Formats: sequence, C-alpha cells, structure tokens
Amino acid sequence: MSDAYIAKKRADQLVAAAESLFAAGVMAHSGHANLSARLDGDRLLLTPGYVRGIRPEDLAVVSFDGQVLEGELQSVSAEIIAMHSVVYRARPDVGAIIHTHSPSATAFAVAHRPLPCRTEPMLRSGQAEEVPVVPWGPRGSDVSVRGIAEILRQRPTTAAALLANHGLLAFGPDSAATARLIVAIEESAEAEIAAAAIGGAVDFPPGAQEAVRAAIARVAS
Ligand SMILES: [Zn+2]
Repeated sequence: MSDAYIAKKRADQLVAAAESLFAAGVMAHSGHANLSARLDGDRLLLTPGYVRGIRPEDLAVVSFDGQVLEGELQSVSAEIIAMHSVVYRARPDVGAIIHTHSPSATAFAVAHRPLPCRTEPMLRSGQAEEVPVVPWGPRGSDVSVRGIAEILRQRPTTAAALLANHGLLAFGPDSAATARLIVAIEESAEAEIAAAAIGGAVDFPPGAQEAVRAAIARVAS
C-alpha cells in the first residue's frame, strides 16, 4: 500500500471517529476537541482547530516538533501539537489520540479526581485501571506537556489521562478504538456521578479483569 493510500485511509477514519463522538453525545457544548492519527516517521494528521463538520481534506499534516507540512492549522491548534506528540513519542504502539472536553469526564478533571474503572465498557475498552489526573499547566505549555510525560512514565499501561481543570486525553491503536474509549470513559464518569447520589459506586470484585480477559479470549478463539 502506498503512503498516500494509508494517509487517506487514516484521514477517513479520523473523520468517522469525530462524527461518532458527536453522535454519541460526548462532546462539550462548544464541540471543542482535537484528534490526531500517526502517519510514518514523526508525522501526524491533526484536526485544524475545529471538529464539527470536518472533512478528510481539512486535516493538516504536522511534524512532532510542530511544523505544518501540509494543509493549514488555526493558530490555537499549534499549541496542542506537543500534547499529542509527547504521547506518540512515549508510546510507539499508539496510532491515534483524541482530546475532548466531555462534560462528566471534565467534572473529574476539574475536581482533580482520578476516574476509577468501575464499569464493564471501560474495563473492556482498554482502560482496566483508573484514569489518572495530570496537574494543570497552560494548554500546550512545557509544564502541561511534562506533566503528561510524567504520568505516562508512572502509569505505563494507562490509555487515558484527565487534564486537571481542562478535559480528557485518550489514546489507542486507531481512531475508532480511541473514540470508543472516550465514550466508555464519559459513560463511566456519568455513572460515578449518578451513583454518588445513591450511596456511591462500588469496585468490581477481585478477578474481574481476568474474567473479562478470559471471556474476550473465548470469543476471539
Ligand atoms: Zn482542550
């Protein structure tokens, strides 16, 4: 497959993932988000500063160090390249990254509360552990980017982080899987907040993760 073919396919997948987030109702009122997908080397596809109504040809190609190689970025988007590239650099297996202000996940980010893994969809969607909180720093600043790098170092298997006083960052093998993780995390955050009114959410019993892994393996075999 040619590089151009792969880039087109990733762009189509990214746009489909963005649409799926609106369809699932997990976006903030503003519709603010940014999505990226890894290309080859140190290049990535990135949404240009808006997501609603985005088309594949609107995506920009940028380098990890912030150079715009193809297309155009709104100036606000230049700030967020480092937030994405720090994850791609730390996690060679990550193929796509999505940042949203999903309201219930953002409530945890604003409260500086890690989000526990206490729902079946979250357990199954690649985040079988709590979503940690990255200390606040201005968006795209060295403080913020270093905070993300530090969390990735401390938590080598986390597939998401809450950005304190800001929102949610999730990453996965591709755009579709990452969008599903965003939805699972937002649902979990909603369920935690709802459960707090009726006595509080309760952990899975010991061995739940192993039981789910075994069930997934049975279906796959
Ligand atoms: Zn944001």
